[in-house]
Amino acid sequence: MTKTLPADREHGFATRAVHAGQRPDPVTGAVMTPIYQTSTYVQEGLGRHKGYEYARTQNPTREALERNVASLEGASYGFAFGSGLAALDSTLKLLRAGDHVVSGDNIYGGSHRLMERIYTQYGVSFTFVDMRGIDAVERALTPATRMIYCETPTNPMMNLVDLAAVGDLAQAHGLLFVVDNTFATPFFQQPLAFGADLVLHSTTKYLNGHSDMVGGMLVTSRDDLAERLGFIQNAAGGVPGPMDCWLALRGTKTLALRMRQHDANGRIVAQWLTEQKVVHRVYYPGLPSHPQHDLAARQMRGFGGMISIELGSVDRARKVAEGTRVFSLAESLGGVESLIGHPASMTHASVPLAMRQEMGLTDSLVRLSCGIEDPDDLIADLDQAFRAAV
Ligand SMILES: *Cc1c(COP(=O)(O)O)cnc(C)c1O
Repeated sequence: MTKTLPADREHGFATRAVHAGQRPDPVTGAVMTPIYQTSTYVQEGLGRHKGYEYARTQNPTREALERNVASLEGASYGFAFGSGLAALDSTLKLLRAGDHVVSGDNIYGGSHRLMERIYTQYGVSFTFVDMRGIDAVERALTPATRMIYCETPTNPMMNLVDLAAVGDLAQAHGLLFVVDNTFATPFFQQPLAFGADLVLHSTTKYLNGHSDMVGGMLVTSRDDLAERLGFIQNAAGGVPGPMDCWLALRGTKTLALRMRQHDANGRIVAQWLTEQKVVHRVYYPGLPSHPQHDLAARQMRGFGGMISIELGSVDRARKVAEGTRVFSLAESLGGVESLIGHPASMTHASVPLAMRQEMGLTDSLVRLSCGIEDPDDLIADLDQAFRAAV
């Protein structure tokens, strides 16, 4: 656990992205935070040390990352983990047997798996609902409900959850409201401002942005939650190594710059996709035709580079996914390089078929993560893949 410093709350987003949480190395003046690749720290005497005892508990590189991301989300405390799912695992450890969670139905496949296949074994129960309607969320509440969990925009259907409405509901019922902000990033959306208690990230994606590490983060401004999460982080030990923290920290420095380009490319590619005959439907919240475009424009400052498309047939989806050259066929998202994926067989294969069907996640759906390349090249690449697929 690391608390932000007053200086981390000053300045604009891009400035904080570069500087927050970091100070020149006190020994050498090194401008970049060193990678403190150590498991332990020498002590001057019994009980006398510099605040660092053992690296599961404290590591200066990790602390710099924790302060940096907390600052970007407008939070007071940050906690880094070895993966996004390790961050979710520690979040669910806030619960006890008998507790109930209302979760969005359209969440990352691995998040659903962790909840349904592991936490149900310990007596925690889950109800998955389409959170586009606040009524559905309210109806799913039971006397045992302790937490509301969602992603927005959702993966891969690009549905929106009204953060302010869910925030109000959670507050009225005294529930923890947790938002996975991996898709939007704090550059476009800051859930704490809408009443979320806890924000989760897979830093593997946009925060790192270079597809060269796996990591997770939690941030909060609540002292009570921070104290408990700090205890869990150390007691359960799902912490990242210093090298991965350093890579994520290098990534966040350019977050503002990258997100502007992901957003610009996303808008251009999404618009072009709406004009293509082979594309039956484009899911992108930045399009005025998206059913929740107004809500997206209200709670987000941009829409990013994630687009899903319905291609109408499994065969065509396969040909397109295998036919692009600039877009690489791969799991994951949010890197500078464009990726194409097939959620039904890749990221969401662990979601039961009936649930996939209910949310419109068909076998002919393809997901695009638009990188920061020249948009003309992205369009030309999709164009040649579409031509070869018909
Ligand atoms: C990838 C992802 C996760 C899981 O993160 P890992 O770093 O892979 O453990 C959680 N939520 C979303 C939205 C993701 O895209």
